[in-house]
Amino acid sequence: MEISFFLIGLIFGSFANMLIHRLPNNISCFNPTRSICPNCKSTISWYENIPLLSYIWLKATCSKCKKSISISYFLVELLCGLVFVFLYIKLGLTFEFLSFVVLFWLLIILSVIDINHKAVPDYLLIVVLIVAFFLPNFYYVEALSFAGGGFLLEIFVTFYIQNIKYKITKNSELKSAKAMGEGDIPVFAIIGGVLGVGLGIVAITIGTLVALIPSIVGTLKNQPQIPFIPYLSLGLFLTYMWNGLL
Ligand SMILES: [Zn+2]
Repeated sequence: MEISFFLIGLIFGSFANMLIHRLPNNISCFNPTRSICPNCKSTISWYENIPLLSYIWLKATCSKCKKSISISYFLVELLCGLVFVFLYIKLGLTFEFLSFVVLFWLLIILSVIDINHKAVPDYLLIVVLIVAFFLPNFYYVEALSFAGGGFLLEIFVTFYIQNIKYKITKNSELKSAKAMGEGDIPVFAIIGGVLGVGLGIVAITIGTLVALIPSIVGTLKNQPQIPFIPYLSLGLFLTYMWNGLL
């Protein structure tokens, strides 16, 4: 069973890659129906589109134009496979499993789009919020208060970045920089709603601590903006998985 859920996760990972590439670029998800190389637009045959294996077999290059394929395709597939297996081991084949698989699958898509574009499509945020509201045992009041907390945090951190950090680094980009993207507050709400207040704070702390590393590296390289959704999602996943094991 674990192996079959890993394989299903890989297929969903492959589908996620298609959405990650097409949604922000306004390419239809139905046309072309077959996968195409983002560089030379040639159709990718089914045997070149097998999750994980094709990437290794093609040595990370397109078979037609030899342009290298981003490692993110491989990592997204692997990540989806692992998330599906871990959730199945924790929850078994239940409604909770099905709903959390959809939630984390959407969060992976949002995270990679956030990494690639530093912004996410609004309708995708609405979809993930709707999925979250139908989760079993979702804490609605906590979700609202976390959204509010996220909003306040954004005001304070934006003030810090625009005033204090700007005075130190003299990077004029910071003057108009915002602490968080619009996508971060819905993810705050989901964290509060899934985990409640105590564990929600744990999840955000984990996410923020992990995000500190690229944030410091980015500041040194004068690229102060880092995507926050991947780190919040990671914090949520780790805390959710650990909850009940401890
Ligand atoms: Zn190509």
